Amino acid sequence: MQLKGKSAVITGAGRGIGKDIARRFATEGAEVIIAEIDRAHAESVVMDIKNGGGTAHAIICDVSEPNDVDSLFQQTYDLNGRPLDILVNNAGIAHHGAFLETPIDEWEQVLKNNLTSIFLCSQRAARQMEGVGKGNIINIGSISGQRGSFGRTAYGVAKAGVHQMTRIMAVELGPMGINVNAIAPGPIDTGITSFGPDQKRRYLERIPNNRFGLANDISGVAVFLASKDAAYMNGSVVNVDGGFDSAGLIFSYDELINVKSDVRDKKISD
Ligand code: NDP
Repeated sequence: MQLKGKSAVITGAGRGIGKDIARRFATEGAEVIIAEIDRAHAESVVMDIKNGGGTAHAIICDVSEPNDVDSLFQQTYDLNGRPLDILVNNAGIAHHGAFLETPIDEWEQVLKNNLTSIFLCSQRAARQMEGVGKGNIINIGSISGQRGSFGRTAYGVAKAGVHQMTRIMAVELGPMGINVNAIAPGPIDTGITSFGPDQKRRYLERIPNNRFGLANDISGVAVFLASKDAAYMNGSVVNVDGGFDSAGLIFSYDELINVKSDVRDKKISD
């Protein structure tokens, strides 16, 4: 029960990674607020959590719209008459599109849903948290924000913005007792990753752990970042990607020993 007595808003928690974070937080004793655009999904997660003995509420909102976000944090405050303890900015939309072909409306939509939404939610949350001198914000970024990759023009830029906003918020909000960190997931097997077998194989060739991640690989790290054990973490962007960001080309051991190496080859011939 690492989060007992804490209240947590999790955006986009109607499915995928956010849903798993909501369930894990509830299991750890948090009162969970599902801030989600899709009513049916949000209500189903609330039901699941309540059936498991946890506490959860659904607030239906579009976290990229300033009025909806104002209303979300007012309603959250009114639930207990105090600021929330934890905000997880998880909501996001997937996008693939080549640089030369990305239309302005797609660019704006991706930036709005993946980056502006985090600005809006974090600003509202931090204004409440500042009053009590404590709080915890966790942003879900992406490995696409850490490295260049094909077709990630808008999405990758938005996620790089999330990582940089994490650092800037950490600097400004840390002195107010608010920690801000980000998780950068690699490819995770949820609705957002609808790759065919060939694309999956090409990913796996570059992931040292040789598998896609699962939602619970992310939610466990989110629990840790929200817990007391991470009290001195502020401004970190934590890759959770099976080594994907560290890897360039990966050789098998057999391939490796066939690579020419002056020092080793000389020793062998001696
Ligand atoms: P999903 O699409 O499965 O879930 C995203 C959820 O967010 C959906 O319920 C969606 O609603 C909701 N949502 C989207 N936009 C808004 C909005 N403006 N307001 C409120 N709710 C919204 O995504 P994942 O679980 O896979 O991804 C979660 C986060 O993790 C995202 O930020 C994503 O970019 C990031 N990520 C995911 C990776 C992956 O491989 N899955 C890899 C790296 C990062 P609706 O059902 O209506 O679409």
